[in-house]
Amino acid sequence: MTERLVFRVDAVDGQARAGEVVTRRGAFATPAFMPVGTLGTVKTASPGEVEATGARIILANTYHLFLRPGTATLDAVGGLHRFMRWSGPILTDSGGYQFFSLSRLAKFAEEGVTFRSHLDGTAHLFTPERVIEVQRSIGSDIMMVLDQCPALPAERRTLEEAVDRSTRWAARSLAVRADGDGAMFAIAQGGTDVSLRLRHVEQLSELGFDGYAIGGLAVGEAPEEMYATLDAVAPALPATRPRYLMGVGRPEDIVEAIARGVDMFDCVMPTRNARNGGVFTRRGRLNMRGARLARDERPIDEGCRCYTCMTHSRAYVHHLIRAGEVYGIRLTTLHNLTYYQDVVRGAREAVLEGRFDAWRRAQHAGWEAGESS
Ligand SMILES: [Zn+2]
Repeated sequence: MTERLVFRVDAVDGQARAGEVVTRRGAFATPAFMPVGTLGTVKTASPGEVEATGARIILANTYHLFLRPGTATLDAVGGLHRFMRWSGPILTDSGGYQFFSLSRLAKFAEEGVTFRSHLDGTAHLFTPERVIEVQRSIGSDIMMVLDQCPALPAERRTLEEAVDRSTRWAARSLAVRADGDGAMFAIAQGGTDVSLRLRHVEQLSELGFDGYAIGGLAVGEAPEEMYATLDAVAPALPATRPRYLMGVGRPEDIVEAIARGVDMFDCVMPTRNARNGGVFTRRGRLNMRGARLARDERPIDEGCRCYTCMTHSRAYVHHLIRAGEVYGIRLTTLHNLTYYQDVVRGAREAVLEGRFDAWRRAQHAGWEAGESS
């Protein structure tokens, strides 16, 4: 049997790692940031533009693609890669997070999750097995298992039940994996309860997955709480497999998670904030609506080589954003996606050269100094 996923660690500096993940549809360097393409598009950007930012893997959402365009269409068009013309790897989530964030529409039982579509209210059942089938229709290269992610704060007993059920669901997912399927990652839960997290990691490691994700963080807890959880949990995940922190986050969270041994990330922040005129730079964040940018001839970020920064001034982007022009949000999106790729590539180069800690301090210093220096 050929390996569904090969992971190689090229260098370690402290806990931070630089490596490469090889999937059946090509390789990507780690640490890696995956732009979010919820409905089969990274909002406002073409696949070629996404690739030009440096991204080599994107994320798509099983729950959303199941509702629209649906598995019958996905099967008919030959899967998502062919449909959207993205030839690189695609990771798909399992819907667990959507059931968490749309929890008033979802009911959990041992069999699976019954939920109502947020679009038309129709009722559906997602079992762990069904979720794998849907990801198969998408053509996912890295499938995530269905998990239960309770809202925090939660009683230990509630967290414990979610962890044990998620382990049983992970085992059921593994049992229906077929030849020709993509790789499969499990998701460790347990809130900020470290002993429960470690118990879940141990249960999932025994089952044996291609990679391991940490779910249920950055859901409203303080950053320090998230870092403390990562301090304990990341090193406990199998060292020979990629570690993926789901849905995180701000550039500073990504840098701090890399420092704790995490390899893969996804987040809607670069694309979502861009649509509101929010941009990330080496000098912290900027709101492109700000009146002081109206005649600012500089690029968004002097250190950035993206299309936006190489072509247009802050003043022009500010004008477009204020006027509600679509081109404006394309420009902020392309910049933010490029910046996130620059962060993970910078981290990788620093690990390879054994200067990660100095690089990490320099990133924080730049964000804290802001525009003034
Ligand atoms: Zn830029």
